[in-house]
Amino acid sequence: MLEKVLIANRGEIALRVLRACKELGIKTVAVHSTADRDLMHVSLADESVCIGPASSAQSYLSIPAIIAAAEVTGADGIHPGYGFLAENADFAEQVEKSGFTFIGPTADVIRLMGDKVSAKDAMKQAGVPTVPGSDGPLPEDEQEALRIAREVGYPVIIKAAGGGGGRGMRVVHKEEDLIASAKLTRNEAGAAFGNPMVYLEKFLTNPRHVEIQVLADGQGNAIHLGDRDCSLQRRHQKVIEEAPAPLIDEEARRKVQARCVQACIDIGYRGAGTFEFLYEDGNFYFIEMNTRVQVEHPVTEMVTGIDIVKEMLLIGGGQKLSIKQEDVVIRGHAVECRINAEDPRNFMPSPGKVKHFHAPGGNGVRVDSHLYDGYSVPPHYDSLIGKLITFGANRDEAMGRMRNALDELIVDGIKTNAPLHRDLVRDPGFCKGGVNIHYLEKKLGMDKH
Ligand code: ADP
Repeated sequence: MLEKVLIANRGEIALRVLRACKELGIKTVAVHSTADRDLMHVSLADESVCIGPASSAQSYLSIPAIIAAAEVTGADGIHPGYGFLAENADFAEQVEKSGFTFIGPTADVIRLMGDKVSAKDAMKQAGVPTVPGSDGPLPEDEQEALRIAREVGYPVIIKAAGGGGGRGMRVVHKEEDLIASAKLTRNEAGAAFGNPMVYLEKFLTNPRHVEIQVLADGQGNAIHLGDRDCSLQRRHQKVIEEAPAPLIDEEARRKVQARCVQACIDIGYRGAGTFEFLYEDGNFYFIEMNTRVQVEHPVTEMVTGIDIVKEMLLIGGGQKLSIKQEDVVIRGHAVECRINAEDPRNFMPSPGKVKHFHAPGGNGVRVDSHLYDGYSVPPHYDSLIGKLITFGANRDEAMGRMRNALDELIVDGIKTNAPLHRDLVRDPGFCKGGVNIHYLEKKLGMDKH
């Protein structure tokens, strides 16, 4: 069992990890930038260390600063949360080399899955279905690239091997645009991710985003915790998520879940992870694996009753997975709305002082947020200020509770996207369930495809 965990993150996920540690009797170390002294989890942690200035490059992304903080506080484990260094293989490696436990997979596995080309390859070998496309990277040879795209069939999407966060992707509809688009994506990828390698996939025109949550102990045991639908996206960023994914072919679901579990065992996976798929016409197509806890993990916790972050901490402490697949029962339905400090019309960030925060409540309502009256949302980081999660016996009940919860939510002093959510949970198409990944952008009038 870990005794003291350093939380290498901020905001709602840092608070989430802190709560799980406290439940398990694990001491906590909060690290924060100078702009984040007033974060809720900093005051709740057993110890806190300022690791640098507001700029995340010099604080939350500074590997030496974080490892030094672990040294001086005598922490034995480091939880990376999501974002920042969570999927940085060098970080995981240096944490372990310095004698601490990285709460997540091994550096090698993060590296394998962090490169989308090698990840796709590993999945193919494990029998996980992938999106048809180039076998490995898209060749620089123009004729070869054109031949591959022709074979796959337009429209195609060119994606950066090192991409993430919805960046480094370009859709190509016509053959005459392929070469220029590939060049542009390569240049952008080189600049943004330090890796110019790109690959090509069939651009699916009508898919949903469905993902499978897994837990594995790196000691030969792995389970899945069912699926989530995260199709409501804007600029490839998730806005609302739910579990289980509605209206999925049961046979296809069972098959892909079993493949994911097997893939975890094949690659020696350890910790919590997510296999992301596009789902179209009853078929699953793997797109990438996230080797960390995800923003949307609470919806899975609500329908399984399993605390994913606690399981991560137990696995990190070297324990074997105590839950068997047959113990995992999906019950009811859960929905999550991501609340961002942003203008609901033009999506511009809206940092500043929260004059008043009122969290909704009632049966089946969960609020994961670090906000409190008087807290100032700094302008330096992601605009996520909280997550509203509702649970119900079925989807309709969960959605009804979400409508109420959103109506009760008050965040005074800054703009939030709550008005957009209030509109979305009343949208007839979304209420029916099973909308595709283009639905939200079409509704917002920004669909380009
Ligand atoms: P990232 O790591 O940046 O999140 P992903 O590979 O997970 O990138 O893709 C993010 C989103 O981009 C998907 O959820 C989907 O909306 C869209 N997308 C990715 N690949 C395809 C594809 N082959 N066809 C259609 N849409 C895609």
